[in-house]
Amino acid sequence: MAKMYYEKDCNLDVLNGKTIAIIGYGSQGHAHALNLRDSGCNVIVGLRKGGKSWPVAEKDGFQVFTVAEAAEKADIIMMLINDEVQAEVYKKEIAPQMKAGKAIAFAHGFNIRYKQIVPPADCDVFMAAPKGPGHTVRSTYVAGKGVPCLIAVEQDASGKAYDIALAYIAGIGGARAGILETTMDEETETDLFGEQTVLCGGVVDLMRCGFEVLVEAGYKPENAYFECIHEMKLIIDLVNKGGIAAMNYSISDTAEFGEYVSGPRVLPAEQVKANMRAVLKDIQDGTFAGKWIAENKNGRTFFNSKRAQLAKHPMEIVGKQLREQMLWKNDSDLDTASN
Ligand code: NAD
Ligand code: MG
Repeated sequence: MAKMYYEKDCNLDVLNGKTIAIIGYGSQGHAHALNLRDSGCNVIVGLRKGGKSWPVAEKDGFQVFTVAEAAEKADIIMMLINDEVQAEVYKKEIAPQMKAGKAIAFAHGFNIRYKQIVPPADCDVFMAAPKGPGHTVRSTYVAGKGVPCLIAVEQDASGKAYDIALAYIAGIGGARAGILETTMDEETETDLFGEQTVLCGGVVDLMRCGFEVLVEAGYKPENAYFECIHEMKLIIDLVNKGGIAAMNYSISDTAEFGEYVSGPRVLPAEQVKANMRAVLKDIQDGTFAGKWIAENKNGRTFFNSKRAQLAKHPMEIVGKQLREQMLWKNDSDLDTASN
């Protein structure tokens, strides 16, 4: 089993006298800032002047500075702005403030893995990555619990980077749930692979194909939506709770028999795995990262057109109508990241 750390392995005193700058105040940013402050840490927030998060962070009682000012004042700088803008913000506002002995931290390894950000050798670099949405990081902390976290130390210039990273994660509540050791390479590559092949890509294509096949065969779109899209969560909730066996226990034997005979017809394992290996290779050799960086530099034409196209798909239109008609409402807090 991989090594796990808990509260007994963390010493929050390591953060005494240190100023932590949380850069970004979105899903993760607000949760880290509030949890660390409630854990007794000295927290400031760094944002764009005029950005929409600025008044929110101020209302929560934080001292808010520009990114450059916050980075200058801080001993530990946590990057919680969107991954695709981090490199530019780092270069312009943070790099000039990276004095020896400071630490820079991330909640996702993309920019370090693909060398979009290269911190100086005399600084610590670590990752504290909650395995859950920011709003859950906050709500579980308030409830006396926490979200499991990944820890990785990429650069240990001070000789104390590990203790600082463990203390940071304890401060956001992660040590109450467990801290799993990894590397930023492993976290980035597995994260991208999971979201592209199974969780987001993968599952979306599977649901769409199922919906389209039923509708093309003349069945009502509402029925197709319920069967192929709406029920996905109900099934996955069972898997989450007790594994695939628990799901198979709850569904009918007919459904379980169908799973065994038709699943492999729809997703022939050898072919699907070959496709997945090709995706993994593009992640490992930087091809995917290069495409995504270029897409952002070129105004996101492909990305925006795909998003617009999807919004017009009948499954999205039918789904919206059905949700509006349902007596109960989804308590969908729209935390969209897959991390
Ligand atoms: P978010 O989109 O919710 O928030 C981004 C914040 O950055 C906002 O406050 C925004 O105003 C600010 N911002 C954007 N551009 C800026 C700029 N140029 N200068 C200053 N501030 C700017 O982002 P998030 O989902 O919290 O993601 C933050 C990091 O956490 C990412 O590295 C992400 O991969 C990681 N992460 C997210 C989740 C999640 O569930 N959301 C989970 C684990 C890790
Ligand atoms: Mg992920």
